Amino acid sequence: MLSPTETGLGTLTAAGLALGGYAYAAMWPASTIFGPTLRAPRRPGELALTFDDGPNPAWTPQLLDALAAVDIRATFFLVGRYAQVVPDLVRRIQQGGHLIGNHSWSHPNLAFTAAAKVREELRTTQDTLAQITGQPIRFFRPPFGARRPFVLRTARSLGMEPVLWNAITNDWSEPSAEHITLRLASRIVRNQQRGFATNIVLHDGGHLALGANRGPSVAAATELIRRYRYSHRFVTLDGWA
Ligand SMILES: [Zn+2]
Repeated sequence: MLSPTETGLGTLTAAGLALGGYAYAAMWPASTIFGPTLRAPRRPGELALTFDDGPNPAWTPQLLDALAAVDIRATFFLVGRYAQVVPDLVRRIQQGGHLIGNHSWSHPNLAFTAAAKVREELRTTQDTLAQITGQPIRFFRPPFGARRPFVLRTARSLGMEPVLWNAITNDWSEPSAEHITLRLASRIVRNQQRGFATNIVLHDGGHLALGANRGPSVAAATELIRRYRYSHRFVTLDGWA
């Protein structure tokens, strides 16, 4: 089946950013109407595991153990208000050699957030993560993938490259790790056929509260690593910037 990008959404946006067009520009991961973002380069042999909405004391430690056991590094887009509560867990992510990114302070839809608040969401998180890790944060993923030109400009002005993805499924609500794995694997195959690496989104936390159950997501990550660790190279996003 053709994806929406191939069936005329490009034409729809060209029709003048009507409501449907605006939603496409603001929410569709492949859209560059509101500015370019990092998705995945033409390196079909590479996979980036990225985890959003942590740090989560209930599941991030197990995930870190699983990654350490196979010597694979991932990228973690952290929610600032959680990082502030569990700074030791942020440092543990860093000490594992993983890349840490900014996922806003409170996970609002930034396409519809006032400018001053957008700046505060990004800058407070930036400051908090830099203070905890002792390093500047260079990557930003907008919550829900929602953005507008001001959001992307603000991220860049704070020294961050905006990142989206090209492989996602509803791992936050899907109880079966096997289903999550199968859906992501089909996207890996599709991206590879098109000549691209895959930028995979999974969730080790939940944006509504600390402590969300992410057992299926962590199990799916482990299974994806088992399937692909000898045929592909797992990378962090700084290798693509
Ligand atoms: Zn998120």
